[in-house]
Amino acid sequence: MRPPPLDRVRLPEARLTTALRRSLVEAVGGFHVRDDAETRVRHAAGRSYVDLLRLRSGTLDSAPDAVAYPGNAAEVLAVLRACTEHECAVVPFGGGTSVVGGVAPLRDGMRCVIAVDVERLDSASGVDAIGMTATLQAGMRGPHIEAVLNARGMTLGHFPQSFEYATAGGFAATRSAGQASSQYGRFDEMAAGLAMQSPSGELITDALPPAATGPSLLQALLGSEGTLGVITEVTVRVHPLPHVEHYAAWSLPDLAHGLDVMRQLAQDGGKPHVARLSDADETRAAFAMSSGRATPVARRYLRVRGQPAPCLMVLGWEGDGDVVGQRVRVASRVLRRAGAVGLGAAPARAWRRDRFQAPYLRDALLDRGVLVETLETVTRWSAVDAVRRAVRGALISSLSERAQPLIGCHVSHIYRDGASLYFTVLAEQRRGDAVEQWVAAKRAATDALLAQGAALSHHHGVGVDHSRWMPSAVGERGMALLQALKRELDPTGVMNPGKLLVASEPELTTF
Ligand SMILES: Cc1cc2nc3c(=O)[nH]c(=O)nc-3n(C[C@H](O)[C@H](O)[C@H](O)COP(=O)(O)OP(=O)(O)OC[C@H]3O[C@@H](n4cnc5c(N)ncnc54)[C@H](O)[C@@H]3O)c2cc1C
Repeated sequence: MRPPPLDRVRLPEARLTTALRRSLVEAVGGFHVRDDAETRVRHAAGRSYVDLLRLRSGTLDSAPDAVAYPGNAAEVLAVLRACTEHECAVVPFGGGTSVVGGVAPLRDGMRCVIAVDVERLDSASGVDAIGMTATLQAGMRGPHIEAVLNARGMTLGHFPQSFEYATAGGFAATRSAGQASSQYGRFDEMAAGLAMQSPSGELITDALPPAATGPSLLQALLGSEGTLGVITEVTVRVHPLPHVEHYAAWSLPDLAHGLDVMRQLAQDGGKPHVARLSDADETRAAFAMSSGRATPVARRYLRVRGQPAPCLMVLGWEGDGDVVGQRVRVASRVLRRAGAVGLGAAPARAWRRDRFQAPYLRDALLDRGVLVETLETVTRWSAVDAVRRAVRGALISSLSERAQPLIGCHVSHIYRDGASLYFTVLAEQRRGDAVEQWVAAKRAATDALLAQGAALSHHHGVGVDHSRWMPSAVGERGMALLQALKRELDPTGVMNPGKLLVASEPELTTF
């Protein structure tokens, strides 16, 4: 099923009242309030498999009634006040790359729903070259952030796979983690402070080094997924551009040896910027998809070296030459002890070159009727393989109706105490009820990972899709506390309703 042209997508009638439209126009100017069909379609969904199915169906049963594009913090505040007064739900919208229903335009009892797109907030409003921080407006996308910083000899080092489209505000709102997180940290570690506009007013957390002024307000706002207010600015910790980059690939005899290497690198020095370990199934798929002439030779060579079901590891170090050299030496010792076979720089370079390309493959697979989706979690080192097996088992029993699904898993963010697991699922799509097919599989996988004590999400966040599990993830009192925070900042509940803090079944037909 190919996607229909945008002008053929059927939308629900826009419900913006004349009075609210007038207030929005007063807030941001007539040119920056749009309700044409293309704008509404572009803001009607994120980028999950279910989102793509909905977009491809040619009929959207929900879409924002309009989109407002504020140009500064005061305009954001004016939009939120207008929406509060007119009982209109507000969906903060960055790059729209959410894969958990975070930008789903839910009314949730409100009279209408608008998206507030922060694309006009797109400059760096300050760089402190001594303290190594930069203040980024919320709408800056990944490449723009790096271009501005690189021009000053700096980098943020935040490279999620959605880098090309996702924004600074979105990174903060979802506690995003990039591919080099093992060294540069997750976005919630990079953030030093932020400015948020809420229906109750502006909230600014000072951009200071870590302090002891009670519980961290900054951490309470990070990951709020648009449910408390619109983040307009984030101050982040930045780094000097690396002088040296060293990327290489290894093959490990099995996952257990690979995980042991990853853990030692995270705990005992040698820690890389990029650390990826694929299980045997994902490695087999990577070899099969590789067009390089060396691939069949490499597979034969690995068999001869006693690795019939190898696990591919890509490691990358960046920074000062001496530090990189020292870490590579430590890692080489650990790898040798684990029986790793060096594959050289070429596979790692190929991974690096193509690292933002894989998502584009999804469209071709969807065109051919393939179910293609990912899910992720994080857990302690001692539980990593048990979680992998449990999730894999749940997905296989849910999706094996016709053909066996293909399930690959990799570890790509390592910590002293544990690691994330990222699953890629390919299966034959069940025509007619493809959404229900995936919803059932995702529920089974999520129940399985929670039963193993793993986290509901490592970096995709909660959105609509994971909200039903939030009470069990944070506990009743935890939910009550988060809801109290929301009541303070958003007393009438206009901010992104139906996401994150919902204890009941969500309104949308996703989860
Ligand atoms: C192909 C693909 C690969 C991905 N890879 C990664 C990855 O490697 N690492 C990772 O962490 N994530 C990844 N994601 C998920 C997604 O990109 C992240 O969650 C990202 O941080 C979202 O940023 P965004 O600007 O697109 O936000 P959006 O999708 O626009 O919004 C996400 C959520 O944040 C809220 N929000 C957005 N902007 C603001 C704001 N200014 N103020 C308040 N709330 C706001 C929205 O309301 C929504 O709830 C991937 C997604 C895709 C489609």
